[in-house]
Order: sequence, then structure tokens, then C-alpha cells
Amino acid sequence: MIDIQNYLNGTLQAARSGSYLDNVNPSIGEVYSRIPRSGKEDVDMAVEAAEEGFKVWSNMSKEARSNIMLKIADLIEANHAKLAEAESIDNGKPLKLAEHVDIPRAASNFRFFATAVLHFSSESHDMDGQFINYTLRNPIGIVGCISPWNLPLYLFTWKIAPALATGNVVIAKPSEVTPMTAYLLSELCIEAGLPKGVLNILHGLGGEVGAAITEHPKIKAVSFTGGTSTGAHIAKVAAPMFKKLSLELGGKNPNIIFDDCDFDKALSTTMRSSFANQGQICLCGSRVFVQRGIYEKFKTAFVEKTKHAKVSYPMDPEAKLGAVVSEDHMNKVLSYVDLAKEEGGTVLCGGKRKILEGEYANGYYIEPTIIEGLDHMCRTNQEEIFGPVVTITPFDTEEDALEMANSVEYGLASTIWTQDITKAHRVAAKIESGIVWINCWLVRDLRTPFGGVKNSGVGREGGLEALRFFTEPKNVCVSL
Ligand code: NDP
Repeated sequence: MIDIQNYLNGTLQAARSGSYLDNVNPSIGEVYSRIPRSGKEDVDMAVEAAEEGFKVWSNMSKEARSNIMLKIADLIEANHAKLAEAESIDNGKPLKLAEHVDIPRAASNFRFFATAVLHFSSESHDMDGQFINYTLRNPIGIVGCISPWNLPLYLFTWKIAPALATGNVVIAKPSEVTPMTAYLLSELCIEAGLPKGVLNILHGLGGEVGAAITEHPKIKAVSFTGGTSTGAHIAKVAAPMFKKLSLELGGKNPNIIFDDCDFDKALSTTMRSSFANQGQICLCGSRVFVQRGIYEKFKTAFVEKTKHAKVSYPMDPEAKLGAVVSEDHMNKVLSYVDLAKEEGGTVLCGGKRKILEGEYANGYYIEPTIIEGLDHMCRTNQEEIFGPVVTITPFDTEEDALEMANSVEYGLASTIWTQDITKAHRVAAKIESGIVWINCWLVRDLRTPFGGVKNSGVGREGGLEALRFFTEPKNVCVSL
């Protein structure tokens, strides 16, 4: 049994409360480690440490900060196997996915922002030679970063790296459900020589330590990724304190497949966009809309492939889907299958918990599920399920597809499949989402703006957007 520790003022330590929470391995349904139950006192201590850390970090040259961050990236790579295994055990995802996606991306996040900041510049505005304005971009100070459980180290580092690169100091909270790789990252930060107090990682419950971070008056910005209702709560607390806020929230993404698509590519990518990471990626396409001309053919092929997608324990190299993250989450996802039936849907495949053999019999596995026959306005098609459950719906015209795609309160990502380039651009322009993929899915260039419209969030992450979020612009006007 491992006892995870907080990373506070450069050292690993228990929470002030001295109490711990259980951490469950979802592939076997058993407690395998404990995490410190941190609270307000720990946040107060982290703020004190961070104030000292800021004096050091913000006065270092960009190059010196960048070099330490590059060292952290190197150490993530050097510990690739250990981190991938830890991520897979903690989250339930197939080891292969952690090896190929989660951990490489965590290293890239550090490397990308460590170098991006060296090329970051600000504007100047000349007033006919009489005056000149220039803009300074200073770090904010102490910032809070709160992340979810679905892509634990990937999303945690996606926030921390730009915050550190721009000279801020950070108090971060990983999800209590998947704390392990954030803990291992603490060890790597110590090894890389990150000055004490610059990054503080506190573990515990969202409603306790998460709330204390959001409420602390000296934490001037909060970057949050998680559910829409938690985001709304954080905004309610932080807005009257005039904190800068970046909110990356839920999604209910449409995957629009036209008659004239590259059928095989659309089919194989739809398998991934529906069920990768057990459907627990905010960018997964959970509503599949297929044009009438190929609907039956696509549906048949999609169902056939889905029936053969292997649900297995995460270390199985053949596993296409592993366990979902927790028992609560499994029950929530399965409750949506029941709801879909009540709403008149037909389960074409899956729809049940999958019981594996032997030591995995109590793990939280769900068969990949496709549901047909639902109205696009019903709850199953409107609410985020965040599991291996998709709906499939036919459409006739481009207008019909757009109406159904845009009918939800979310607007994170969308996917369009067609060989008609004019139609692809036309639909992309009209679709209400922050991210559109045409004939591909989950292709990520870290320079691009990342985030959603409507209830999927406020603000953008990635590239310059992140560097701007984590800095305060100050205009200086000089008389010439
Ligand atoms: P939650 O909103 O439940 O939690 C996210 C984080 O916030 C966790 O660390 C959680 O802690 C913490 N938290 C919970 N309550 C509070 C609070 N009152 N104050 C401060 N922090 C709090 O989301 P999930 O972890 O369940 O993640 C799934 C959600 O994340 C989905 O809705 C998904 O769409 C969204 N998401 C969005 C992405 C995007 O980029 N737009 C990317 C990935 C996921 P604890 O774990 O202890 O509850």
C-alpha cells in the first residue's frame, strides 16, 4: 500500500489533517494506495511557500526557467514505463494508451511551453512618432490549477507547464480519483532542481482542498478542467474576487458522417472517437449522425466492429477498452443506458457491465454500446455521459445535421466526414464548437487554441492563448 504525499515547499509531506483517503484500482475494484486529505491549512501553507518561491522563480531568466522545465520533460521521458504503468493502474485505461498518448504528451507539454515562452513577444503601438506604447506581459503570481481524472498527467501538465513557463508559481490539485502520476511528477520536479515553493501539489477532495484553492484571496487565477456544474460553482466563487478564470468543461460532441465520406477511414476513426479511453475523453464524439444513403451500411459495420472491440484488463496488449475510472462512474454511465431504453432507444450492442474472469471480476468494465432510435432532443442525446456509450442517428440534409449537432448546450468539439471540400468548410463554419476536425479526430497541434463555446467553457488553452492567460498585460505609454 503506497501512501501518496503532498508536494509542498519542495518536500514531500502528509496533509496537516494527518488523514488519508482510499485510492482504488478500477481494474480490480480494490484499494491499492492512500492519498492525503488536504484542506484549507495545507493551502495556506502552500501559499506561504509559493510567495517565497515566486521571488526566486520570477527573477530567474526565461532561459534558466526553461532549462529546468526541459529537464522535467527529459525525466518524464526517462521514466516513461513507470509513469505509463502507474497511469494505467490508477485510471483503468489500457497500458498501450498510456504509453502512446498520456505520458508522451505530458513530456511534450513541458517541452512545448518551455520553448514557446522563449519566443513569446508583446506588442508596441506607435502614435505618429509622438508617443509610443509598449505592453509588458508579467506573471500573475500564484495561480491555481485543478484537473480531472480522465487524462490525469496529460491535463495536469497542460496547465502547469504554461503557468510555470511564464514565471508564475502554482498550487495544483489533481483529481482525487487519479492522483498517482501527479505524485510521481513531484518526485521528478525535485530531481530536476525546481526551486522550492514554485510548484505545490496538494491532494484531496474537490469540495475541500479544491474549494480552498478557489477561495484563497492570494491565488489570483484559476485554470480548471472538469465538469460543467463544477466549473459553474468555481466561477460563482472566483468571479466576485476578480480572479482570472479559464474553464474547460464538458462536451456532447457530434460526429457528422456524410454519404460521400471515405467510408473505411470514417468507420475506423469513429471507433476511436467513440470508445478511446472508454469514451472518457472530453473530445469523444458521443452523438454519431450518419447521412441516410449510407446509414444502414455504416451502422451494420460499426456495430460489427464494436462487438469485436476487446474489453479487457489494462495490461492486456489486445485491450481496446479497459476499465472505467470508478464504481460510481460505471453506475452513472449504465444509468444512461437505462434512460435511453426508457426514452425509446434500441441498444444495438453492449449496454451492460462486463465481468472479467479471476482477479479482474470486480473491476469496472462496460461493454462498448451503440444506441439507435432516439430523438436528438431527449436527455440521452443532450446530457454528457462520458463513457463508452454513443447514439447513432440518421439525417437527410446538411441543414438537418447542423440543427441536431447544434441542439445541445455544449460546444466543445465536432468531427465532419466528407470528400466535398466546400461542404466541409461550410459545415465547419456553422457548427457551434471550439474545435472542428475534418476527416480526422484528436489531431493536436499544441500551438492551436483549445477550448469550447456555450457551456463547454470560457477561455482557451494552448499556444499563445495559454501564455496570454497566465500573464497580465501592462501598457506603458511614453512621450517621445
Ligand atoms: P469534476 O468537475 O468532478 O472534477 C474536476 C476537478 O475539480 C477534480 O480535481 C475535482 O476534485 C475538482 N473539484 C470538484 N469540486 C470542486 C470544487 N467545489 N472546487 C474546486 N475543485 C473541485 O470533473 P471530473 O473529474 O469528473 O472530470 C470529468 C469532466 O471533465 C467531464 O465533464 C469532462 O467533459 C470534463 N473534461 C473537460 C475537458 C476539456 O478540455 N474541456 C477535458 C477533460 C475532461 P475531485 O476529483 O476530488 O472531485
